[in-house]
Amino acid sequence: MSEVGTTSRPLRVAIIGAGPAGFYTAEHLQKREGITVAIDMYDRLATPYGLVRLGVAPDHEKIKSVTKVYERIAGRPGFRFFGCVEIGRDVTDADLADHYDAIVLTVGAPVDRRMGIPGEDLAGSHSATDFVAWYNAHPDHHDLTVDLGIQDVVVVGNGNVAVDVARILATDAQELAHTDIADHALEILRTSAVRTVTMLGRRGPAQAAFTPKEIRELGELAGVTLVVDPVDLDAVGEVSGDEHAERVMKALRAVAGRTPAPGDRVIQLRFLTSPTELRGVDAVRAVVLVENDLVERDGSLRAQPTDRTDVISAGLVLRAVGYRGAPVPGYPFDDRAGRIPNRDGRIIGDDGTPLVGRYVAGWIKRGPQGVIGTNKADAGDTVASIIDDLIEGRLLNPTHPTQDDASALVATHAPGAISWDDWQQIDRRERERGEPDGRPRRKFASLREMRDVLER
Ligand code: NAP
Repeated sequence: MSEVGTTSRPLRVAIIGAGPAGFYTAEHLQKREGITVAIDMYDRLATPYGLVRLGVAPDHEKIKSVTKVYERIAGRPGFRFFGCVEIGRDVTDADLADHYDAIVLTVGAPVDRRMGIPGEDLAGSHSATDFVAWYNAHPDHHDLTVDLGIQDVVVVGNGNVAVDVARILATDAQELAHTDIADHALEILRTSAVRTVTMLGRRGPAQAAFTPKEIRELGELAGVTLVVDPVDLDAVGEVSGDEHAERVMKALRAVAGRTPAPGDRVIQLRFLTSPTELRGVDAVRAVVLVENDLVERDGSLRAQPTDRTDVISAGLVLRAVGYRGAPVPGYPFDDRAGRIPNRDGRIIGDDGTPLVGRYVAGWIKRGPQGVIGTNKADAGDTVASIIDDLIEGRLLNPTHPTQDDASALVATHAPGAISWDDWQQIDRRERERGEPDGRPRRKFASLREMRDVLER
């Protein structure tokens, strides 16, 4: 048998998940000197790019230009894409192990975390995960019922996702009309009655997870007043030594003390406040709040509820309290951490030892933290483990190690799979559809529409 990693027998890697972590894994493999790789990237959706397409806010067009890098990766020899193939449903781990030397799961963290309070499932209460997917034309979320005929919104959480959803709700729909926001979302945002978006941070401003750039952006939105009470900031005092907190506090101080301009929508930041109950009969109408104190426990500052409570009006509540990984059938899962257990990207089995030829990168490996670029170094570390294992002869020993074999596997188990050429046709059509309105693209929000493009 010829040696794995040569032109006659390339290193065959299946990457599961076509988001940033998947593409950076592919890139690190492609750039390894002296090793020929053949990469098949699978995704359960028809479209590549994961959260770059379906998570990044539509008004952050510049961030999405990273897909140009991913297009170059996809254009390199040996790379193939199989969209609409779900691992664990259409193709199993055993199928993959028959066809590849290594399997890398880069499936992200698609599930929302819950608050665990009464009323959380009332109509009008959604996870930000669902809301973001809805306005980004995720095919699984286009039929979410979002009622914006209400004035007051509460967003729970102090991360960048909370900032994203607050900004989208407060921005004039006319401005969003130039973005790639889903048509169905734009239609509803155009008739929005929303006047106030209150963001709740359970801890103080110095503990907020959002980044200063995002706060500055909120402060500069046309037709929106960002309301931050200077008293909340004064209470924090100095935060020297914590660079993130210092920069956030500087950004907040620069906007604090503003009063709403007449006619403006308002984004209000409330700190040291948690929701304890969502109230309403058929749908959410109010949120019961408790004020928190900050206490030090186990070396970190935590929110501790006081007996000071409040009730505020809300017709829409979005919980943006973080994402979680979801189990992939056939692979171990640490339910408490919401991740696949791993050491240096090698998936660890129940007996505490690495599973041969199985790896992870991205959010399913390290949890839902960091920006798109963070996945580059993370994927590099996983690829270093793969290459070490290749050298040590610790990879899988597939019985069907050719591209044709894998094509036959997909044709049998997922006959409607989408190829890279198919995706490029869909991509072209979306861009063409956007052109008349000066939009970067008009996204298709259903697989049916995408298949129609391919059948024409
Ligand atoms: P995140 O940054 O982890 O923020 C989660 C927020 O939810 C924190 O403020 C957290 O507060 C709060 N929280 C958690 N449980 C809570 C509870 N039970 N009640 C009230 N608050 C609760 O998560 P994220 O906003 O989902 O963002 C995920 C990652 O994507 C981050 O790395 C983020 O920077 C990145 N991202 C970046 C951008 C961008 O660059 N523009 C946009 C979107 C997302 P505690 O701190 O008290 O736990």
